[in-house]
Amino acid sequence: MNNITKKRIYMDCAATTPVHPDVVQAMLPFFTENFGNPSTVHSFGREAKSAMEEAREKLANAIFAKPEEIVFTSGGTEADNFAIKGVAYFDKNKGGHIITSKIEHHAVLETCHFLEKNGFTITYLPVDEYGTVNPEDVQKAITDKTILISIMHANNEIGTIEPIAEIGKIARKHNITFHSDAVQTLGSIPVNVDELNVDMLSFSAHKLYGPKGIGAIYIRKGTKMVSFLHGGEQERRRRAGTENVPYIVGFGKAVEIAISELVQKRENLTCLRDKLTNRILTEIEQTKLNGHPTAKLPGHINVTIKHIEGESMVLNLDMEGIAASTGSACSSGSLEASHVLTSIGVAPEDARSSLRLTLGRQTTEDNINKVADILKKVITRLRAISPLYKKR
Ligand code: PLP
Repeated sequence: MNNITKKRIYMDCAATTPVHPDVVQAMLPFFTENFGNPSTVHSFGREAKSAMEEAREKLANAIFAKPEEIVFTSGGTEADNFAIKGVAYFDKNKGGHIITSKIEHHAVLETCHFLEKNGFTITYLPVDEYGTVNPEDVQKAITDKTILISIMHANNEIGTIEPIAEIGKIARKHNITFHSDAVQTLGSIPVNVDELNVDMLSFSAHKLYGPKGIGAIYIRKGTKMVSFLHGGEQERRRRAGTENVPYIVGFGKAVEIAISELVQKRENLTCLRDKLTNRILTEIEQTKLNGHPTAKLPGHINVTIKHIEGESMVLNLDMEGIAASTGSACSSGSLEASHVLTSIGVAPEDARSSLRLTLGRQTTEDNINKVADILKKVITRLRAISPLYKKR
């Protein structure tokens, strides 16, 4: 990390993370001396292919899958599009009904909206006050036309972890393909394809200290779907196009590091997260924690701080050198209340007064204390000029 990032405090790891220096080192030779195209038969190509397959194996091992069940993509968005459209178009004649939740990432929701306009029927399941999907609701929504269930592993805004294993059991009982967006969970909590009972998972390297623009989809052997990109025979004809070898190598390295650090990082982050959460809730009045109290990602905090616009908090924290967010990066800048927060019952005005702080492997106890102190100062300043704020 350079000096500038050292002085500033980065609390937006759910949006993206810095590339780990070892990941950069692992990638570098594949831009220059090992630049071969993995589809070519000479030594340059063979070297590139072998590095790519090593990365595939690392990811497969991390999630207890087989290497041939991994397809590299350009990121989480493509993996979500691939999973949902791939099954939808393969199974369209079976009825075209898809079940998802109201709090999915836009990569899933917008894909479902697109399919809706193209003749598919989508059920958007509600969630409870913590953002949890009730498996019984999944069961009830299934019809003889249901071809796919897509429920995220953990939510990117509030960090709630969904009961994926239970939902997977239901999907399996009905012989329905089950996809889960695991973009926020890989490297944060254990991801095991068999324990989760999933057929497909989406991943993105830049959430776990890998580069942006590379991700993957896990596709359980036997899952029926159409290919995403048509052209050459790469990725077992499931995703055509010359593979992004340096980024795939970087992704593999990032996964290897993340898995080796997982237990320690999870413990450390949970402790720091709880400290910061406690300080915010006890030292700043009229605050409320959003998301599940326990079944949540180790680095996620989402709080409503009443009577102040989330955007003002983010801008003021930024001026103090703290990077935070109002919700998902894709919707920041828009004044629409977060669909996740309104789905868990937060009033639109409170949803607009919410702040997301997401910690990562670089977060220290000193960072936590500084963030709490500065946040208190910023909130006092903003509330002093807020026409809506009244001290209780
Ligand atoms: N799904 C979730 C849950 C995410 O948090 C994100 C990124 O914010 C994505 C999908 C999209 O991933 P990518 O940025 O790699 O396209």
